[in-house]
Order: sequence, then C-alpha cells, then structure tokens
Amino acid sequence: MDRIKNIALVAHDNRKKDMVEWVEWNYKGLMKHRIVCTGTTGKLVEEAMKRKCKEDGIEYNLHIVKLKSGPLGGDQQLGAMIAEEEIDIMIFFWDPMQAQPHDVDVKALLRIATVYNIPMASNRSTADFLISSPLMKEPYHPRLKDYSSYMVRNIDFN
Ligand code: PGA
Repeated sequence: MDRIKNIALVAHDNRKKDMVEWVEWNYKGLMKHRIVCTGTTGKLVEEAMKRKCKEDGIEYNLHIVKLKSGPLGGDQQLGAMIAEEEIDIMIFFWDPMQAQPHDVDVKALLRIATVYNIPMASNRSTADFLISSPLMKEPYHPRLKDYSSYMVRNIDFN
C-alpha cells in the first residue's frame, strides 16, 4: 500500500446521507487518494466533492471509478478488486436496520475484506479514525494470513 491509497466508498441507501456528510468533511484529504465506489454511492460522492470544491474555490481534478450499483454486481466487482489487492481501505456504511436484496453479496464483501486484512470502517467514527491515521501518509503493507496449507490440502474423492 503506497502513500496514495485506493479507497473504496460504499453506502446503503439509508446510510448515503451519512456518507455524503462524511465525504463533505473529508473531501480535501480524500482528493489526495484514488477513489472507487459502487455506482449510486459514486454518483453522490462525486456530486458532493464537486460541490465542496466549487464552494471553496478549489479545482476538482479527481476521477472516481464507479462500479456497477451494489445490488447489480457492484459489491462483487469490489470484492474481486480486493482479492486482486487493488483496494487498500474500504469505508462501507452498511445498513444495520434493513435487509438488502443483495445481502449475500454484502456478506461476501465484508468477508473478503477480512481475508485480505484491509482496514475497513462501517460507521462514521471509525472512518474518522481511519482517515486521520498517520498511516494514511505512509506506505503500509497489511500482513496476510498464510493460507498455503489450505491451498495444498488433500481432497479425498472416496
Ligand atoms: P450503490 O450500491 O452505491 O449502487 O447504491 C451500494 C450497495 O448496496 O452495495
């Protein structure tokens, strides 16, 4: 993980307001990194960043990668990027009060982020701690658990 991080931002519908507010607070810091979002979150994040830049007279020069919308495969695309070690940090404001049509994808995304030991935040205070960490400004290499014995396990066909 380089000094410039690949940060994934995802929010369920009931948490999108939280995400937009959090992005508005942190947009200057976020603009130093690369941002990847699921589709609808990405659209809102981009609008919020452009709005803040305009208000503050700052040139907007960020390209946000927008994947498919979460329920249409965006969570799975993001999970694949994590497995390819293309995502360094995930801010995922998932909804604790409502089941999602793509709950299995949500679970898979949280699982793969844990497997690859990437820092992840599911609420604003954790996201605040993450974004203000001194490690944001330094290269960092998450230690991956050694799964080699799993890869050479014996499968008994009998
Ligand atoms: P969305 O997807 O950003 O396209 O709304 C979020 C999700 O449900 O994972």
